[in-house]
Amino acid sequence: MSELTYHRPKTLAEVWRIRAEFPEALYIAGGTDVMGLVRSGCVGPKALISLRRIDELHGIEVNGAADGGGTRIGSSSTIDDVLAHTALGERYPVLHDAARPFGSVQVRNLATVGGNLCNASPCAGMPPPLLVLDARVRLAGPEGEREIPLGEFFVGPGETCLGPDEVLTAVVLDPPPSGTRSRYLRKGRVSTDLAFVSIAVLLGLDGDRCTRARVAAGAVAPRPLRLRAVEQLLEGRRIGPTLLSEARAQVEREVSPITDVRASAEYRRHLTGVLFQRAAESTLNGDRR
Ligand SMILES: Cc1cc2nc3c(=O)[nH]c(=O)nc-3n(C[C@H](O)[C@H](O)[C@H](O)COP(=O)(O)OP(=O)(O)OC[C@H]3O[C@@H](n4cnc5c(N)ncnc54)[C@H](O)[C@@H]3O)c2cc1C
Repeated sequence: MSELTYHRPKTLAEVWRIRAEFPEALYIAGGTDVMGLVRSGCVGPKALISLRRIDELHGIEVNGAADGGGTRIGSSSTIDDVLAHTALGERYPVLHDAARPFGSVQVRNLATVGGNLCNASPCAGMPPPLLVLDARVRLAGPEGEREIPLGEFFVGPGETCLGPDEVLTAVVLDPPPSGTRSRYLRKGRVSTDLAFVSIAVLLGLDGDRCTRARVAAGAVAPRPLRLRAVEQLLEGRRIGPTLLSEARAQVEREVSPITDVRASAEYRRHLTGVLFQRAAESTLNGDRR
């Protein structure tokens, strides 16, 4: 086995200097995905570059002046940091819905939001809630910074549009439009397992008319998926049992699950519809748990 070196830079400039020396180096944040891959021999990098000591990747700022009253979640924020941030949960309850059942105490303590997005697992927990919040991601590389919608970040299973040296520095959210409510639900085989279906729903209402609909699902397509046809079906219409049944049928048509060790494609498709309906009803009723 070739020697593995471990680097702990304190700045992004230092990161890119190390990358120039070790172009195949892997970034590591919490390590909950990377270390499993390294230990099992699935990847064999010559170097690991830890992002944990870089101050600018940490911190959660809600209603930040620098972000026009929006919110910035540093990529090295852990799932525990998300859960511990009361103002974040009050503003975007769907993020706490997704963080609460994530892994175990130990995993939540290490796993970062940036790592969860960059690992690009179709069943990852944070993408569906962030997609319904129209999140954007900030990416920085030696050539400069760019900001893109999260929906454009995922390319396929385990693949993102990150350039070879780029680091995801933050997730950025606008204030939620007034009158919107959101909910995330997931189903896994056991509580600490990854979800085999997850769904996030955000609805804006004017009386019983739907003014805004965002629906995103996990583990039912090659990447975390916005269900745009469902959103179009709901927006502008009066929400009631008939429309929700129509939308549920559209949810089941719009996903393309596979069969794997966790569940069959058929069960996943059916369950996505069930969870959509529950999440939408719970959103409309204003229930939080
Ligand atoms: C027991 C267990 C339970 C789990 N349960 C869940 C669960 O319920 N839900 C869920 O979604 N996941 C779960 N996971 C998976 C894992 O914990 C998450 O995907 C986690 O968020 C990854 O974050 P990390 O900081 O550990 O990433 P790391 O393992 O450090 O990195 C993951 C990938 O992202 C890259 N990377 C990390 N940060 C950056 C960055 N800022 N810029 C560019 N690239 C970066 C790394 O190079 C690597 O490719 C579980 C894992 C375990 C071991």
